[in-house]
Amino acid sequence: MEEVLVANIQKYAIHDGKGIRTTVFFKGCPLACRWCHNPETQGYGRELIFYEERCTGCGECVEECGNGAVTAADGKVYTDRELCRGCGECVDGCMRNARQLCGRGYSVGELAEELLKDRAFYETSGGGVTLSGGEPLVQDMDYLERLMGTLCGRGISVNVDTCGAVAFERLEWVMPYTDRFLFDLKLMDEDNHREYTGRDNGLILENLKLLSGKGARIWIRIPVIGGVNDEAEELERMAGFLSENVHAEQINLIPYHNTGSGKYVHLGREYKGGMFYAPPKERMQELQRLMESKNIAPVFIGG
Ligand code: SF4
Ligand code: SF4
Repeated sequence: MEEVLVANIQKYAIHDGKGIRTTVFFKGCPLACRWCHNPETQGYGRELIFYEERCTGCGECVEECGNGAVTAADGKVYTDRELCRGCGECVDGCMRNARQLCGRGYSVGELAEELLKDRAFYETSGGGVTLSGGEPLVQDMDYLERLMGTLCGRGISVNVDTCGAVAFERLEWVMPYTDRFLFDLKLMDEDNHREYTGRDNGLILENLKLLSGKGARIWIRIPVIGGVNDEAEELERMAGFLSENVHAEQINLIPYHNTGSGKYVHLGREYKGGMFYAPPKERMQELQRLMESKNIAPVFIGG
């Protein structure tokens, strides 16, 4: 594949592995977590982002759209997301910058060049590049291998931030190039996992077990969502699974925040996480102590 779609490249990231890192957020994810704070990375294709508050209702985008996706009424414009093909024709014509396209195509060479610009930061901080998303391992594997091979060939550490819901062969494929996996663990109950993320967790847990068995370096990342998985019982189940099956370097308990909820409106989607809440600091500390008491790995809040 010549190009893959990238939603965003985050520079100076300090929570995606060791040191200062540049994180690539690829487009596309096999899960649809209700609390996702990067919903723009979930879809596989280019997507229109519309900032209604900037729109003057001039109607230029109605003219620009050859797909009939934009209509005007009462001084406002409306985009039919079913008809929108993410072509971006309407974006340049909008003088108010109210329309943007999420998803830029990068060739391996372009992306590697962009990532190599921050090499000095990687070298001085012990950092590197983190591939994230969305889910990096749903991308074209030849593409990923060429990208990761290029970075590794320059001595750059590459981390893979994965939800684990991919064929194990994909994890195995990138192992030789991966300094560390940041592996998400969300819920142990199969039905709850399906309800909140759209898929059950059988493949994810099996992959985590297999990956650890292959000797991969793994950080476990647990998003702690108030009202979903912030009960001691849930953490006990996770601890039981991890202590029996996984050799983790560290565990990060990451408190939920709703900073991404506004993005759903701009994507023309409904945010289904209105009932979730950020666990208070004291609750996070209790859960940290609980997890620490299992002696699996050092446990941190945040990251
Ligand atoms: S071109 Fe921009 S400002 Fe004009 S109606 Fe469309 S979105 Fe609004
Ligand atoms: S991105 Fe393309 S299809 Fe979608 S509204 Fe704009 S011009 Fe129409």
